[in-house]
Amino acid sequence: MNTSPEIIELDRLDSDCCRDWFFDQAFCLTCGLCSSACPVAGVDGFDPRMLVRLVSLGQSGATVASRWPWICTMCAKCEAVCPLGIAIPDIVRRVRGLRDRDAVPGIIHKGLTMAIKTGNNLGLPEEDFVFILEDVAAEIAEEPGFEDFKVPIDKPGANLMATVHNKLVNTHTEDLKHWWKIFHAAGEDWTVPVENWEGTNWGFFTGDDEGMRTLVGRVAANMERLQVNSLLWPE
Ligand code: SF4
Ligand code: SF4
Repeated sequence: MNTSPEIIELDRLDSDCCRDWFFDQAFCLTCGLCSSACPVAGVDGFDPRMLVRLVSLGQSGATVASRWPWICTMCAKCEAVCPLGIAIPDIVRRVRGLRDRDAVPGIIHKGLTMAIKTGNNLGLPEEDFVFILEDVAAEIAEEPGFEDFKVPIDKPGANLMATVHNKLVNTHTEDLKHWWKIFHAAGEDWTVPVENWEGTNWGFFTGDDEGMRTLVGRVAANMERLQVNSLLWPE
């Protein structure tokens, strides 16, 4: 944990901000099971048990300013093994949400802003999205057994709607093929929405509840618009 003078000062300014969020964190037994289960414990000294203790003891300012909350992958293994069911990923999200948005590491806040504005983290225009999907579908149709393959974009009344991770229309189009071939082989009646197709909700990862809610609402609105029964949200 970075304990620079600047961060210690933050502790003084912000000492109680997390106390009321998760009353149960105060019951932490310091058993360390969370740290044992955590796949990233030890990275830059990250320790979920210590994170819980810091927040419980009113030292949330230190966690907000440190890199620790951004090391967590939100996998929830810690919560699964915690004998008291302490929701560590929720604590991490809340702490992330307290960080100034300009100081959110990496591209995830910018991606969220773009997704709110355009419907996907890349800002990919609709015609480019459709072009990429149809191009991938044409490649699949060249393979034996898939000659009749087409991608059902925005199909009303489909049984299943699949969201798309922006990576799959950017650098990993091969992964789209795996999903689509499984749907085809299973005889699934599926579709991909033409707008608001983004499956990666960086509102969730940045602790921006309002942004997260907006993106989830758009997925639900697509299901309603297309009258789809089921959602595949692989992200
Ligand atoms: S597993 Fe739960 S009780 Fe044990 S140290 Fe971690 S948060 Fe505390
Ligand atoms: S949610 Fe975070 S703290 Fe918990 S086990 Fe996963 S990476 Fe570790």
